[in-house]
Parts: sequence; structure tokens; C-alpha cells
Amino acid sequence: MNIYVAQNSGFCFGVKRALKKTFDAITEEENVIFTFGPLIHNDQVINRLKDLNVKSVENIEEAKDSTLIIRSHGIPLDIYDKAKELNIEIIDATCPFVRRVQEIAREYYNKSYQIVIIGNPKHPEVIGINGWCHNSAYIVEKVSRMEEFPFTEKMCVVAQTTITLEKWNTIIKELNKKTNELREFNTICLATKQRQEVSADIAKKVDAMVVIGGYHSSNTQKLFRICKKYCEKSLHIETADELPLEIFKECKDVGITAGASTPAWIIKEVVKRIERELL
Ligand code: SF4
Repeated sequence: MNIYVAQNSGFCFGVKRALKKTFDAITEEENVIFTFGPLIHNDQVINRLKDLNVKSVENIEEAKDSTLIIRSHGIPLDIYDKAKELNIEIIDATCPFVRRVQEIAREYYNKSYQIVIIGNPKHPEVIGINGWCHNSAYIVEKVSRMEEFPFTEKMCVVAQTTITLEKWNTIIKELNKKTNELREFNTICLATKQRQEVSADIAKKVDAMVVIGGYHSSNTQKLFRICKKYCEKSLHIETADELPLEIFKECKDVGITAGASTPAWIIKEVVKRIERELL
């Protein structure tokens, strides 16, 4: 059996940076540090952080008089003001690529453009971006929902960094019918795009494809959908223990890829388990 591990799989630049900032902030005095929502969508890493006194809060009040880490997804602008009022020290790990999207939203909102975000309205990154244009953005996830959009003279469109290029192109085509002037900022992250392309290429040539990552991680779910399109036998797992080994018995070539919040050690464990049990 041949095993192909996708290049660019695992932690992306933004997640690595957020983790580094978090580990750097941990002190020996055992002070609790808070993160605004789970730092990454990976239970194994989150449990490790809990052991080191890093706790996730959903409500900023819970971090009063303490240190709060902003994860790579970013936050709405007004949360920074609230943090000041609550005497919270912010460690900002907003990914610079996400910050760029937030700044575009703010700039074009101030220039009186209707901001459109292509992405999942419930995703924290999208909620955060919307908070940089006074929560006034139209958020579109599916073309079918665009009928509700009124015609607007000037629109500025940005993307949740993890959407697919296919989704971007389809929605942009429709958006052009809803405005006289469309300022397009394709803010899809290169890391995501590369990961998706490399994974698709591997999925096309293998008998089974393993996608590793948190079940709540949207970029992992997308990666899984892309792999499934090209390889019927694609599976999404979080850890090596979950590998259904019987599936691989008839396989000659197996591909492995992982979402942006999957640590390298989990990828290695999956490879090792396949090698140990099936080669
Ligand atoms: S996927 Fe891209 S935008 Fe998102 S955190 Fe990673 S590097 Fe930043």
C-alpha cells in the first residue's frame, strides 16, 4: 500500500501564531489565562491547554481583570472597547489575513458601500468581520438566499477566509446583478486554497482518503467535502483511534490530509497506525 500525505496539511500560519502567543503567555504562577472561544477547533489541543490553566470563555465579562487571548478568527471591533472597560489585557492573535478582511469591511463601510460577506453567518470569523462594519453586512452562504437581497448602488464583497473558490465565483456572478458597482476583495486564504488543491489532487488518485481534523472545524469539513467529490471512500476522523481499518483492506493507495487546526503529532499517529496495522 502507498500512503500519500498532503503537503500543507495541519496547522496553518494563523493557528501556529495563535498557539505560540498562547504558550508564550503561560506563566509559572499558575494564573488562569482566558481565550475568547476555543483557541482552535481541536479537542486534543484544547484539553492540553486546559491542563495549563488556559480556559475558554464565551462571555467577555468572565475575563474581567485578567488576560484574554483573541484567537485567529478575530472579534467584532466593539469587544476591544468592552475589554478596556473591564480591565482586560488583550493578547491579540487575530490572523493578519483576517485582520485585512476586517479592515476592508471598515474602510468600505465608511465609504458608504454595502458590505457583503460570503461565508457562514454563524462562524466566529464572519461574526467578527461584521462587527467591523456595525453589523450591517449582508452575509451570504448560498446563492438560493440571494433573492432577498435588495438592489444596492455600491457593494463591497469580501470572503470568509476558508470558503472555496467555486463558492466565491458562483456568488460573485449573482452579486453583479444586484448592484451597479461591485468592489471585489477575494480574501480566501492562500493556505486554505493550497490545502484544498493539494488534497483534491491526492483524492483523485487514491482508493481511500483520510481527512483529519476537529468535527467542528469548518475548514476540515470543507476539505472532507472536496475529497469526497473525487474519492468516494473519504473519511473524516479526529484521531488515529477512529480509523476504521477494515475500509483500507482492499486499497492500494491511501491519501491523508488534515485541517488547519490539526497538530502534526496527530497526523503522524494516523500514518503510523496505518503503517503498523496494514503494511
Ligand atoms: S486559514 Fe488562513 S486566514 Fe485562517 S487562520 Fe489560517 S492562515 Fe489565517
